[in-house]
Amino acid sequence: MNFRYLITVSLLFVLTATTLHGQSRRRRPVVPATLHIEDLPQQPLDTLATDDPETRIIIFSNNTWRYYRPALKVRDSLPVYMQHWDTSQVFAYKSIAYEDLPSVVDLNLVKDLSGFKAPVVGSVLSKYGPRGRRNHNGVDIPLKIGEPIYAAFDGKIRYAKYNTGGFGNLVIVRHENGLETWHAHLSKLNVKVNDYVKCGQVIGFCGSTGRSRGPHLHFEMRYCDQTFDPEFIVDFQTGQLKYQTFALEKQFFNIHSRASEILEEDDDDFPLLASAEGDTASGDILERIAAAQKKEEQQTKTATVSSSNAVYHTIKQGDILGRLALKYGVSVSQICRLNNITPKTVLKLGRRLRIK
Ligand SMILES: [Zn+2]
Repeated sequence: MNFRYLITVSLLFVLTATTLHGQSRRRRPVVPATLHIEDLPQQPLDTLATDDPETRIIIFSNNTWRYYRPALKVRDSLPVYMQHWDTSQVFAYKSIAYEDLPSVVDLNLVKDLSGFKAPVVGSVLSKYGPRGRRNHNGVDIPLKIGEPIYAAFDGKIRYAKYNTGGFGNLVIVRHENGLETWHAHLSKLNVKVNDYVKCGQVIGFCGSTGRSRGPHLHFEMRYCDQTFDPEFIVDFQTGQLKYQTFALEKQFFNIHSRASEILEEDDDDFPLLASAEGDTASGDILERIAAAQKKEEQQTKTATVSSSNAVYHTIKQGDILGRLALKYGVSVSQICRLNNITPKTVLKLGRRLRIK
């Protein structure tokens, strides 16, 4: 073993030790104590099918996932998503005047009931209607901060940002039938403008942003910027949709036109229907009829005050025109005239007939 060899080996050892030491010093900050999953490289790995044929799930290399809906892009060319499409301000139909609107719009809400999910389920604390000097253009449903808010129907996000006019964090979804749903005071948004959403997708979370005194959802339904009472369409207490097709009348675009003040059928306390179906008439039937008539008179008065005395009935299993006429005390020909149908017209379930 010669001297030169010893020096070479010693030098190599020193160099290696220095390099290792340097590397371990440099590496320390690269592995932080809290590793965020989104900081990892995100490469798409695979897609998975879902129950919805238009929706797949993309799986990424960093263990995250996202919905993938290429088919929805086809809808970009629909007039409803091309015309009056303003993602910067809340009102999008400024060029359409109230006078230009048709007297009635048939809103096809769902093909089947799986196409709807209530934005939230709960009691309406503050209804649609006049509120002091300002109008209350929607309904208020108290919730806890952070509770999810769902898209009621499929649609496209037209507006998703903080609104300084009092709405706070606001998400507006436009649906294919032209209906818009507004969701205000959210704590956090879960969508961006121009996103397509499916019914039941979480679009944001309950909060108390903007002009709000506590956590709740302020929910509005609008057509061509005009508001109407969402309780015409949604039963918030049960989370059920009231109609598959809704005849949206122009007179409903009126802050005094409340769903609760339009007479609706109510089978449970109406004795005439029971007797017509062959129930044995009990001793108090006359009293019950008198009470029902009195109630109807009161309701008619209220309806007149609210500038609408229209009466509607939604067709259920077993409904026939003759029985409806008997139930509401009108003639079959009146119902036919009001709805432009004949006594032989087949009444589809869920169809809304005007009775008076
Ligand atoms: Zn409100």
